[in-house]
Amino acid sequence: DSFKMIDEFDEAFKKYGLEKEVKLVKTGCFGLCEAGPIVIVYPEGAFYSHVKLSDIDRITEEHLLKGRIVTDLLYKESYVGDQIKAIDEVGFYKKQTRIALRNCGVINPEVIEEYIAYDGYKALGKVLTEMQPEEVVDIMKRSGLRGRGGGGFPAGLKWEFTAKAEGDEKYVACNADEGDPGAFMDRSVLEGDPHVVIEAMAIAAYAAGANRGYVYIRAEYPIAVERLEIAIGQARENGLLGKDIFGTGFDFELEIRLGAGAFVCGEETALINSIEGKRGMPRPRPPFPAQKGIWNKPTLLNNVETYANVPRIILNGAEWFASIGTEKSKGTKVFALGGKINNTGLVEIAMGTTLKEVIYDIGGGIPDGKAFKAVQTGGPSGGCITAEHLDTPIDYDNLIELGSMMGSGGMIVMDEDNCMVDIARFFLDFTVEESCGKCTPCREGTKRMLELLDIISEGKGTVADLDKLESLAKTIKSSSLCGLGQTAPNPVLSTLKYFRDEYDAHVHDKS
Ligand code: SF4
Repeated sequence: DSFKMIDEFDEAFKKYGLEKEVKLVKTGCFGLCEAGPIVIVYPEGAFYSHVKLSDIDRITEEHLLKGRIVTDLLYKESYVGDQIKAIDEVGFYKKQTRIALRNCGVINPEVIEEYIAYDGYKALGKVLTEMQPEEVVDIMKRSGLRGRGGGGFPAGLKWEFTAKAEGDEKYVACNADEGDPGAFMDRSVLEGDPHVVIEAMAIAAYAAGANRGYVYIRAEYPIAVERLEIAIGQARENGLLGKDIFGTGFDFELEIRLGAGAFVCGEETALINSIEGKRGMPRPRPPFPAQKGIWNKPTLLNNVETYANVPRIILNGAEWFASIGTEKSKGTKVFALGGKINNTGLVEIAMGTTLKEVIYDIGGGIPDGKAFKAVQTGGPSGGCITAEHLDTPIDYDNLIELGSMMGSGGMIVMDEDNCMVDIARFFLDFTVEESCGKCTPCREGTKRMLELLDIISEGKGTVADLDKLESLAKTIKSSSLCGLGQTAPNPVLSTLKYFRDEYDAHVHDKS
């Protein structure tokens, strides 16, 4: 419908003779999925939500032609006491800090001039004309940025390892193989602001001594792929990719590689295999990609969100970035907020914001007055966090301490009606499907866990089955080859820890 709406608006502009006076700007995701489709009319900043095709004529005639805001179509919180509130004063946006998402929903991602108008490619210009590669690595290290794809490894250190690695040829790569159920952070950045990734990768290439990069993106993201292709073409036409960028003698080329949707290809060594045209299976580490990555050459690999922070860090400085967040987790994190929550959508918060603020102030709480039960972070690799921990400030270390993890940014809220055994089963079923089969603990062990969970769910299990489930989970965690297997048991272990009573209620020989 969103694409149809664009045509309908064009038609309505013609009907009312407004083609020359009103400009329609098509943007990427604005975050508040619950309120979509959204239309914002400037200069008033009137924020129309849940817009239907049948509303378009009215908005055009009343607002754009006659200057009368159609108040009954405005987003409920954006119109208070006959006044239009600025969008960042609306509850959903008020507590957000947008760095990675700053251009999403603001610029037209298919027009390079709009990106440039918001300081786009300025950081690349600065780096190439004023800075040595070591200075770029130094800024990245001092910023404290950690990898946003899940692991949380310090990005600057990765950049340094690749820069210092011996190699006649080096590569940079971007992991856009986002596969967690319910996660769409990277997709939104690529759909809403693809140039930021291109610019950041060029900066990373300069810092690491690379001249070629690959964006590995899942083919199930056709709009992201299309916009990235358009952006790469525009960057090339404008001399921002290719030979002798900014006349500095620095060359950088970028290619897209499409993934076929295997979850394991989000694991960096499997992703590298897939880029090389091999079957996407993890390799043992070490050697790490910084030493031996694509074609066995030193490779700097970050995910989309990590890259999306880079140009701002270069322009605003390491200290600026490090001043946001907590002691060990700097900057912001993007989360895809879903499940039993009023404001489903994409949110970006400063590290250190509490879970309660995300769920209640930004997310608007639980629908239908139901009680909050748990929040799952980290997708199939993560765990569930209960109500007693809602005041926990979100950062990498705190979430791990609670038995979950940051992951790439999935955040699924559960209410009193959710059965936690079913939730654990859902995630385990996903990892069983996605196991690449290379190592036995993950390939066989997760299947046995699922069988046990099925028996327990059907009420045929015993306390001994629960013990078996737990012990098998721990073995798989400690003996699997890659992150997928090492974290696959987490949803079971965390629900066993916090919701043992629900498991006990399913077995027939309760003690
Ligand atoms: Fe493959 Fe699972 Fe082993 Fe990873 S842990 S290599 S996904 S079988």
